[in-house]
Amino acid sequence: MNLDEKCFYIPDTTDNIAYITEQLFNQQTQSWQLAAANYAGLKKALTREFEIDGIRFIIQFNPERISSSSAKTDAKSISERKCFLCIENIPNEQQGIPVFNDFFILVNPFPIFDKHLTITKLQHINQSIADNAETMLNLAAALTDYVIFYNGPKCGASAPDHLHFQAGNKGFLPVENEFAEMKNRLQTYKYKSVEISFASDYLRRMITLQSNNKNDLLEIFRKTYGIFAELQPHETEPMLNIICCADKDEWTVHIFPRAKHRPSQFFAEGDAQLLISPASVDLGGVFITPRYCDFEKITKHDIIDIFNQVTIGKNEFDKIICEIGSQI
Ligand SMILES: [Zn+2]
Repeated sequence: MNLDEKCFYIPDTTDNIAYITEQLFNQQTQSWQLAAANYAGLKKALTREFEIDGIRFIIQFNPERISSSSAKTDAKSISERKCFLCIENIPNEQQGIPVFNDFFILVNPFPIFDKHLTITKLQHINQSIADNAETMLNLAAALTDYVIFYNGPKCGASAPDHLHFQAGNKGFLPVENEFAEMKNRLQTYKYKSVEISFASDYLRRMITLQSNNKNDLLEIFRKTYGIFAELQPHETEPMLNIICCADKDEWTVHIFPRAKHRPSQFFAEGDAQLLISPASVDLGGVFITPRYCDFEKITKHDIIDIFNQVTIGKNEFDKIICEIGSQI
């Protein structure tokens, strides 16, 4: 496969990545039938809203996400399928923009957001954040109209064998506004230019890093990652989801430490089943239900229970806070 054939445009260092991405989005949603149909369908997507203790949740009925939510991500299933993120396997109509030497910006044809991108590594290597946090920050700085998100290999990534990020337009995930509103009530630490905030009572637990200095931010990210890795020594990567964005002044990185991949409801049978496989978007406040029956029956109690199962408990979270405090 010749990469050039799959390139919508090859930017040079003076090009504005955000502008070219906008052009790519317009071209793909007009000329690629699958993308055009699914983005048109999303405009009619049914939603419900809940408020739990002042925290907002949107439930989105999105049948096109069924393969992502129910993806088999065990080693055997992965080895038996063609990787859908490898460039030689993407649909003929799909084109992308090569950035940062070895990443490729694509339009996600199964959207949750009005604008939804997948940013893949050009090489087929495992999903891992440890060596790629800088790329995440660079993407956020290049695409300031988007939030960038990362799903760990056991935390919602449907291709744990192929490194990728996703991006969705800002203004959709409740966490964006809610963090701004609750920030001054949270426990915080300061290290160099980085402000570290800990949300303990947000139904899910969240660590937020904010800074205008990339090196300082990466330093704290690595410390946080290392502390969490020690709490989950049996995992190749500590279980987490990340939502990251930038404006012209600073980056904001929300880290959601996880305890479990899927809740018990996912594996239940009959009426008790809820086909919900939480990933970054769900932790950001938008639950995706690919089946109408789940969309209709999910309750506030289910949301609270699912978060209790899949995110880390208060004791472990307090250990992380304490340990970060002792290392800075
Ligand atoms: Zn691949």
